[in-house]
Amino acid sequence: MSEPFSIPQHLDQVRRRIADAELRFARTPGSVRLLAVSKTRSADEILAANAHGQRCFGESYIQEAVDKIAAITRADIEWHFIGRIQSNKTRLIAENFAWVHGLDSLKHARRLSDQRPEGLPPLKVCLQVNVDLARSKGGIEMADAEAAAKEIAALPGLSLEGLMTLPSWRESIEAQRAPFARLRQLRDRLATPELPLPTLSMGMSGDLEAAIAEGATTVRIGTAVFGPRNDS
Ligand SMILES: *Cc1c(COP(=O)(O)O)cnc(C)c1O
Repeated sequence: MSEPFSIPQHLDQVRRRIADAELRFARTPGSVRLLAVSKTRSADEILAANAHGQRCFGESYIQEAVDKIAAITRADIEWHFIGRIQSNKTRLIAENFAWVHGLDSLKHARRLSDQRPEGLPPLKVCLQVNVDLARSKGGIEMADAEAAAKEIAALPGLSLEGLMTLPSWRESIEAQRAPFARLRQLRDRLATPELPLPTLSMGMSGDLEAAIAEGATTVRIGTAVFGPRNDS
């Protein structure tokens, strides 16, 4: 018989991995934010993580997310949408989330800005860029990023916070670092005093060390916090 899966224990392990990577790669302690990816997880699992100090949760499936957000009315939870954006779902995203990672279309950006409710602060967004030379998992092309960033930054309902990427899986840490380094270099090229782009949303359960080595400020961690998923 195996032990029941302990979310607090796994959260502690992930926090230790993040702290170790910050130390190893000379990052400021505490500068990397943990986004717990709670897609497919129950409200009880989210509340177990929240009771252990986790505040930021990432969701990918909009209807599932909206149902959980309505059920879990805790003021200390911040909801991030990390899934694929569909045009007919932008209003639900604009109304229910504090952050959107994975914005990769100007059409969606304009809709999210128009649909952001008046009483809420601007929706924080990361522009998703395809830095994977081999295979695309979404994101705009690097050559188009500067023009897109400028247009998004001008939208009143959005606040452009930085860049996000989702490279395909690689085995070695050196291979994992290459696309993350490209995202950081792109951010360094695009950043200006008016648009500092402080956020680099990159790194998941299997490659968070590589992402932190290359400057990640938010890592998006599902499996290592909540256990294996059966959606993929
Ligand atoms: C599911 C998902 C994650 C989390 O992946 P894990 O390997 O479970 O940590 C991170 N980012 C995005 C965009 C995802 O869809």
